[in-house]
Amino acid sequence: SPSRPSVIIVGAGISGIAAAKVLAENGIEDLVILEASDRVGGRIRKESFGGVSVELGAGWIAGVGGPQPNPVWELGVQFGLRTCFSDYSNARYNIYDRSGNIIPSGIAADSYKKAVDSAIEKLRKLEEEEATAYGDDHSNNIKNNETKPPSTPETPIELAIDFILHDFEMAEVEPISTYVDFGEREYFVADERGYDYLLYKMAEEFLFTSKGRILDNRLKLNKVVRELQYSKSGVTVKTEDGCVYETNYVILSVSIGVLQSDLLAFNPPLPGWKLQAIDKCDVMVYTKIFLKFPYKFWPSGPEKEFFIYAHERRGYYTFWQHMENAYPGSNILVVTLTNGESKRVEAQLDEETLREAMAALRDMFGSNIPDAIDILVPRWWNNRFQRGSYSNYPIISNHKVFHDIKAPVGRIFFTGEHTSERFNGYVHGGYLAGIDTSKALLEEMRKEKESQTLLLEPL
Ligand code: FAD
Repeated sequence: SPSRPSVIIVGAGISGIAAAKVLAENGIEDLVILEASDRVGGRIRKESFGGVSVELGAGWIAGVGGPQPNPVWELGVQFGLRTCFSDYSNARYNIYDRSGNIIPSGIAADSYKKAVDSAIEKLRKLEEEEATAYGDDHSNNIKNNETKPPSTPETPIELAIDFILHDFEMAEVEPISTYVDFGEREYFVADERGYDYLLYKMAEEFLFTSKGRILDNRLKLNKVVRELQYSKSGVTVKTEDGCVYETNYVILSVSIGVLQSDLLAFNPPLPGWKLQAIDKCDVMVYTKIFLKFPYKFWPSGPEKEFFIYAHERRGYYTFWQHMENAYPGSNILVVTLTNGESKRVEAQLDEETLREAMAALRDMFGSNIPDAIDILVPRWWNNRFQRGSYSNYPIISNHKVFHDIKAPVGRIFFTGEHTSERFNGYVHGGYLAGIDTSKALLEEMRKEKESQTLLLEPL
């Protein structure tokens, strides 16, 4: 549009949509949302597979039933999102070895306890090192005391438990804010309309929609932002297709992986403190591979929802879920890979991945099981608009890193799950970050307006 919008929001994931909604509610309606892909939702993304709607990105509303209400859970309730309770804690009792035997629960429980103890030990060591680095005398005292070296996982079962403990949840090792604040329950989203229905319902409140579609021209899809040129007076935003937008402020909601990549050029370049902070945050890759079968051959029932394959290679097709609770009769299994295994699988043909997954399943359930008839392998790492699944801050990271990642640079305000100190990595982290950033921007706009009126007032 020829007029200059007050704010441009880059990215239409949960944080971008939440940020836009708060601005609109506060009277800033001349905003534009530029989204690189052809859809709203970002890392919340459904796809139809094997006759049902599966979630390639966020799948759970995590943190329910605690002292404070999880805002995303509240949105789900408000908009009637269909969910199923998931109990991860059973997984440790459904561990298969490579000969298809279930590890007896006593042995599994012992190995689990050993892994938790060792992880706590490791964390202590890191804390000591950190404290020593900051010249804390007290830590030297601890250090002088003999602490036994943490054991490293070696056997397939130890490796499997280490994997689920570290790559999934660490609540036993250190408190996770999501569970502390919102509760320990997790609900699997099983709604044909998708998890992104929540975003659509939010958008409906401030954008023009019709028959389930957003038709407002303030939302611009397929607009890949490549350059942000900023000065004291405003920001010029340039997209890959040659469009140029002028605005007063930008809210940038792209992922930490995108910030670490060279997709976006900043002019002038971002200051050193910002680049250093961006660099300190790791990116987690988390891949859910969906497999469709002609019939069910795995044990079902809620307590069997998750099962584990103990292989001598850590993270090799370790974590499995059946979808019978969410979609009975769908005959779909999901196996989750992370980091190195995710990248390896993203780089190979899906047929190869199917062959590997089938070999793992045949180890567990015997050679007579049927072949999968379809496979779906999301590629979050190779997606240049994502570059990974979610932010993963080092276990011990200081407040300054979060502060710097979130801090505005001139007229560019940062948001996204990675800017949420308490809830990074989650949908509610993205949602709350979007609200936070907009509030900070509104405050800035108020101040700017105030100083302008002061200048205009006759002496
Ligand atoms: P995004 O959703 O990434 O939004 C950013 C948007 O910016 C995207 O739409 C992107 O296309 C766009 N963009 C990027 N570059 C540009 C550009 N140059 N120009 C214009 N637009 C651009 N969370 C949970 O709570 N529960 C879960 O069970 C869960 N599981 C997950 C599983 C997977 C596989 C993944 C990937 C994530 C999972 N998460 C989960 C995390 C959750 O999905 C994210 O924390 C959240 O959706 C992030 O929202 P966001 O708005 O910060 O970022």
